[in-house]
Amino acid sequence: MDKLKRQFTVEINEARCRSCAVCWDAQVCEPQVLSWQPPFNKAIVVDIDACTGCRHCEWLCPDWAIVVRDVAPTLMSQAGAAASGLEAAP
Ligand code: SF4
Ligand code: SF4
Repeated sequence: MDKLKRQFTVEINEARCRSCAVCWDAQVCEPQVLSWQPPFNKAIVVDIDACTGCRHCEWLCPDWAIVVRDVAPTLMSQAGAAASGLEAAP
């Protein structure tokens, strides 16, 4: 049986990002999933596997540039899906 692990995606709208540095602060994103990229220091995702889905980045971004999504159901094993009552991904 596959081990169930919640997985998340973090989308950053580069056009909206104003490089304010809020989201990559370790007090906002403790696992340091986010960082920045020169030359404009726009936010980027550097370690999506470490994301806990807390949504602090999404809530605190002053420009609504971040969307966090839970994609866990698509990763469930057959056995895990049966146990949870959800359909497993093909
Ligand atoms: S909090 Fe929002 S605007 Fe600020 S760096 Fe992060 S994505 Fe960009
Ligand atoms: S949802 Fe939480 S852990 Fe994931 S990138 Fe945002 S602040 Fe970091």
